[in-house]
Order: sequence, then C-alpha cells, then structure tokens
Amino acid sequence: MNNFEERLNEYAKLTVKVGINLQKGQPLAINAPTEALEFVRLIAKNAYEAGASEVHVNWNDEVLTKLKYENSPMEVFENFPKWYVDGLEDYAKKGAGFISISAQDPELLKDIDPKKIAASNKSSSLALKEWRNYTMNDIIPWCVISIPTKSWAKRVFPDAKGDEAVEKLWNSIFSATRMDQKDPVKAWENHMSNLKEKVEFLNEKEFDILHYTSSNGTDLKVKLPEGHIWAGGGAVDSKGVNFAPNMPTEEVFTMPLKTGVNGVVYSTKPLNYGGNLIDEFKLVFKDGKVEDFDAKVGKETLKDLLDIDEGAKYLGEVALVPYDSPISNSNIVFLNTLFDENASCHFAFGKAYPTNIKGGENMSDEELEAHGVNNSLTHVDFMVGAKDTSIVGITKAGEEIQVFKDGNWAI
Ligand code: ZN
Ligand code: ZN
Repeated sequence: MNNFEERLNEYAKLTVKVGINLQKGQPLAINAPTEALEFVRLIAKNAYEAGASEVHVNWNDEVLTKLKYENSPMEVFENFPKWYVDGLEDYAKKGAGFISISAQDPELLKDIDPKKIAASNKSSSLALKEWRNYTMNDIIPWCVISIPTKSWAKRVFPDAKGDEAVEKLWNSIFSATRMDQKDPVKAWENHMSNLKEKVEFLNEKEFDILHYTSSNGTDLKVKLPEGHIWAGGGAVDSKGVNFAPNMPTEEVFTMPLKTGVNGVVYSTKPLNYGGNLIDEFKLVFKDGKVEDFDAKVGKETLKDLLDIDEGAKYLGEVALVPYDSPISNSNIVFLNTLFDENASCHFAFGKAYPTNIKGGENMSDEELEAHGVNNSLTHVDFMVGAKDTSIVGITKAGEEIQVFKDGNWAI
C-alpha cells in the first residue's frame, strides 16, 4: 500500500471502530456515491475484520440523479420507491449499523424544476419516517462521514486546477476528522470527553432560556423545555454501545421548546439543501413559528423547505459550536452541512431528537407534542454562529450566566 492508501484504510478503520463501533455479527449498510468505491471497499474490509455478518451498499450517482430529474415525470418524484424503504427498515430491524457518505455537488440540481425537487424531498421524508425513528432515537448506530468528490471539491476550491481541488478537500476533511493526528482513534476519545464536559455543565444548569445576540442583528430568545437533555461527544445505541453519529463533530446540542422561540436570527453560512443553496437569510420567530423570512439567495428553496409541513416552520435543535473550532479556523466553507454545522452555532428546522428530553425515546408522538417537542418530516440544520455571538443562559431562578462570548465558550 502506498501512503494515501494507508491513510484511506486508517480512515475506513476510524469509521468502523469509532463511527459505528461495529460489533461481532452485526450487519452494516452503507449509502455511498459511486466515487467512493475505493473507500467503501476499505470500510467493508475493516467491517468484516471486526466481525460484520454482512456489508450492503446502496449506491448513488450524480450523473444518474441529474438524468432522472431531467427526464422522469413528476409522479416519479411524488412516489418514493417502497422496496427501498423496506430494505432500509429490514436492515434496521436486524440491528444493522448505517454509514452514510455525504458527498455531493452542492449545486447539482440548480437548473432542475424546483417542484420536482420539493416533491422528491417531501415523498422521501414521508416514506423514510419509520426508518428515521431508528436513527433519531439512536436505536441503531449510525454515522455520517465524507470523502471528496470532483464536483464538490471544485465548488469548494474553484481556483484549484485538475486533481488539486480534490487533494485540498481530502486534506481539509482529514484535518477536520482528526485524521492528521498520530493516533486518530485516541484523538477522538479525548475530543469526545472534552465535549462531554460541556454537556455535563449545561445539563447541571438546566437553563430555562438562551438569549442569542450578535452585531449582524440576531436577537433571539430560545426557551428550553422542562427535562431537556444536552448531548454531544458521541451517542449510545439501544444495546449500550457508544458510537459517533457525525464525523467530524464539534457540537453539543439539545431541543428548544417548540413554542418558545422569539425574535430574529440571521444565517452566517450558506445552506446546501437538496442540491440548491440558500444564503444570507433571516428568520423572524413568534412563539416558536417562523412568522417572516427573507433570503438573498434561494428564497424559493427556503420557502419549499418551510412548507414541507407545519413542524418545518418550528425549530427542533439548538447546537453550540465555538467560532474557533478547527473547522471554522480552516476558513473553508464546505457547502456541506456535515462540516459547516460543525463550524458554527446552529439550529435545525423540523423534528427534534426525542433523545434530547427525559424519557423521549419511549414517548408517543402525542406525548412528545405535549412536552413541547417539535415533530416534522424534516430535520435541516442551518448556521447562525458569528464571531461576536453572545449567548446568555438564564436559569429558572433568573440567574444569568454567559455561556458564549465573542463566538466562543465562556464557561
Ligand atoms: Zn447539529
Ligand atoms: Zn441536526
């Protein structure tokens, strides 16, 4: 093996060992772009070495995706294939680990009829509802990780020539995932325990309200529900096995009270949503709901996102990420939420993770609703952290504690 192959193998090993923490006899399902062939083969090799019973891959390909959007009629996008859903649910029932390789041209669908894209987003969200319960409740281990693809790299580094863009994106991904450290597995263990310290502090404080302000005009009060739980630095599946849902990860997160968000918030990074960009947008919230919005880029796309269902107009995640995170300091806008959300404080439109409230995993939809937990077919993160973001935590007793100052942890 040459140097790069060795590194790629280490990266595959990290995905299997830390990302999924694959157990003997466990099946593994992978969702991957065709350009990830070499990496997927190495994941499979490492998974079998760790005792995987079976490795199954669902391939996707940008050229084929685009051809389908250009040629297939509307009804194809309105009807998500049942066999695909059955396949995913089947593996989930068997307790499989799920790896998703997130790598796409952020502007792949730029010239496609937005109605087709909206229909596809809606039908897939609806069809995959049951399956998503397995991941959003951490019933099974799941991990989102990236590799560069040519089209994506070219958007991130438009001035780079030939293979240089891909090489640059590899370097950025390797440093963001701590693959540039001597012992990446060990580096991840240390990193996760640092995040856990913040989680413990926040859980101990049980803040009632977080008040966000920054010079771009953001002034937002976010009420947290009774019994909310902060998480971060990895998750634990239903069998008690630790795993890392996102690689990289720099966030600690909880859920807002569905009806407790008031004020205005400005985005600070572009959002790649289903092959289109939404940028420089603002949202005005009243009692949790987006009452007004505007965007310099992609306003229609933002409208389609908010129109998926009622819950899409409410927030489902509150995540804290220091402005000085390694990804943020790289000064690269990845145009891929896996990276950009880990470079910035963010929120998510739509469904909240039930694991972010005491007993949430065992609550019915009605019980979650009664506890102020937002429900939706969608969950989309968007970035709001600025270099002067201030967040003040207000306790139930009215004590005010500076949690973030000048974009970074103040605790
Ligand atoms: Zn997040
Ligand atoms: Zn999220």
